[in-house]
Amino acid sequence: MAQATAKYPHKSSRELRASLVLFTLLSSPSIVRLGLMFWKFLQFIRFPVSPLVRFTGYYQFCAGKDVVASAAVTSRIRQHNVYSVLDYTHEHALNEQDFDHNLAVVLQTISEAQRSKSYPFVVVKPTALGAFRLFEKKSNGGAFSSEEQHGWDKTRKRFEQLAKETEKAGIVLMIDAEESWIQPGIDALVLPLLPTFNQKRVVVAITFQLYLKNQIENYKKLIIDATSNNYFLGVKWVRGAYMEKERDRAERLGIPNPVCDTKDQTDLQYRQAVELALKHIDTQLCIVATHNESDILWVMDTCATFKISINNSNLWFSQLYGMRDYITFDLAAKGANVFKYVPFGPLSKSIPYLIRRALENSAVKSQTAREKVMIKAELKQRRASV
Ligand SMILES: Cc1cc2nc3c(=O)[nH]c(=O)nc-3n(C[C@H](O)[C@H](O)[C@H](O)COP(=O)(O)OP(=O)(O)OC[C@H]3O[C@@H](n4cnc5c(N)ncnc54)[C@H](O)[C@@H]3O)c2cc1C
Repeated sequence: MAQATAKYPHKSSRELRASLVLFTLLSSPSIVRLGLMFWKFLQFIRFPVSPLVRFTGYYQFCAGKDVVASAAVTSRIRQHNVYSVLDYTHEHALNEQDFDHNLAVVLQTISEAQRSKSYPFVVVKPTALGAFRLFEKKSNGGAFSSEEQHGWDKTRKRFEQLAKETEKAGIVLMIDAEESWIQPGIDALVLPLLPTFNQKRVVVAITFQLYLKNQIENYKKLIIDATSNNYFLGVKWVRGAYMEKERDRAERLGIPNPVCDTKDQTDLQYRQAVELALKHIDTQLCIVATHNESDILWVMDTCATFKISINNSNLWFSQLYGMRDYITFDLAAKGANVFKYVPFGPLSKSIPYLIRRALENSAVKSQTAREKVMIKAELKQRRASV
């Protein structure tokens, strides 16, 4: 899909060569395995990792240690009509202190969004704001102790505070989706926000994982709910990031795997859902969050068939920062609304995120190979035009 337009306009040739080396290393599973072992060893001996930041892929996948430091990256990509969503990488929050800290950081991203046009959305991961075990217990219908109820009420208040501030800032709060077995608990806190905050426009957008079975039925029920309760719906469409975990848990518990049996079924469901969302584009916010090039082409074609402008304000595309940048900048060059998920946070807190990116890039070899081809083509084009 990428043409002669710049595929990586936001990067210098030097940065691109560094990306090429990184993707070459990531395409070798044994190098990735060795690297991860070495990294765990350094952590085990409590080696100060910060001075090694340049060698970790941090600058490929993350923008900076905090909101202020990330502005250099987000304003650079904004010059090429690509927006950003600042995504704090502090994963595995464990206690009330962590949750309050994460809330404060997301509130900071909201203030920044109010100040800068680079950020039309903010994002939060539910387990950044509340305990995994409480979401799980709620999902299982378990009764809370009074202490747990207190923790749950605090989690609810954190979500409400974010929604209120997002509403005031005139932007959209996206709620990420996580493991299926905590999703009913997440829904119990998030779905009530929709009729409250989405009366005039989408303030809170949710995420649907299309690798889970029967998602079209769930989406249709939500459309009916939105229509009868008179609120706007905003959905980020993803395939889902926890496939192995879902499978392992289902095997361990001897329950059916909630994930579609094949990739083809996931792919089919993805398109069915997005097609339905496009049919409701006048009233729904549709965020196509994927690195799948053929899906993106298909969305473009479907828009042409349905006579939907590619820059319809309710239609957005999104990819992760540092992943498939050529798709993002190509979409922006075509006039589509597109934003990057831009992770930020200190290196020590970003390691689980970087490990996931490393594993994903070494697992999807065809996509990593394509990324390398695109970087090489860009470097060649630059050399030719000197
Ligand atoms: C902007 C953005 C936001 C995201 N937010 C979230 C989020 O909130 N929650 C979340 O869970 N993920 C999220 N993701 C990750 C996403 O779910 C995918 O893991 C990732 O994008 C890869 O899928 P793809 O559509 O890009 O590409 P593809 O390469 O086409 O698809 C890979 C995906 O297909 C599915 N799959 C692969 N093999 C099989 C199989 N055998 N059977 C069934 N399904 C299979 C898996 O979901 C796998 O990740 C986000 C991704 C992006 C780009």
